Amino acid sequence: MILPIVAYGAPVLKKLAKDIDKDYPELDELLANMYETMYNASGVGLAAPQIGLPIRIFIVDASPFSDDDELDPAEQEFLSTFKQTFINAKIIEETGDEWAFNEGCLSIPDVREDVFRKPDIVIEYYDEDFKKHTEKFTGLAARVIQHEYDHIEGILFTDKLSQLKKRLIKRRLEDISKGKTNIGYRMKYPNKKKKR
Ligand SMILES: [Zn+2]
Repeated sequence: MILPIVAYGAPVLKKLAKDIDKDYPELDELLANMYETMYNASGVGLAAPQIGLPIRIFIVDASPFSDDDELDPAEQEFLSTFKQTFINAKIIEETGDEWAFNEGCLSIPDVREDVFRKPDIVIEYYDEDFKKHTEKFTGLAARVIQHEYDHIEGILFTDKLSQLKKRLIKRRLEDISKGKTNIGYRMKYPNKKKKR
C-alpha cells in the first residue's frame, strides 16, 4: 500500500525516533509499504518519520545511481545491488574530508542543495530479520544512509545549509508545508488549509 509522505514542517520530522523491538506489530507489512511508497515516489531512501512514524527504521535502494557515469565502475557495481533495510541503526564512526553532493528529499519536493558530509561511515543496524550487522560504507552509499539516518535523528538536509541558503529557501519551504507543490505522489501537508 502506498502511504502519504509527510511534508516539510510536520513535527514528526523533527523528532528523535525510537528503537523498536522485534515484536513490533506487522513489521513485514510496514516494510513492504515503505518500499512501495519509496518506489512510487522514485526515491532512493525513505525513513519511517516520513510516513509519520517516529521509529528507527529506514530503507535504501541506491540502484538508480548505478547509471551515473561519473562514478568509478566499482562504485557503480556496488550501488547496482545496494538495497537494505536499517532498523535501530547507530552510526558509530564518520571519517574523511567532507564532500558536497546535491541532495533532495521526498518530504521537501523540488528543493535540491549541496550538502557537506564525511565520506566514510561505520554503522550498526538490524536487518528485517533482526540480525545485527556492523558495516562500513563509503561514497554515495554512505551519503544516502547519512541522509536517511538524519531523518531518524530528527534532522533534515535543509538544517545543514548555511544561514544564507536557509533564508533563500525559507519561503519555498513554507509553501511546501502548506501544500503548494506539484508532485506525482501522495503527500500529507502539516499547514494545508482545509477547504470549506
Ligand atoms: Zn529525506
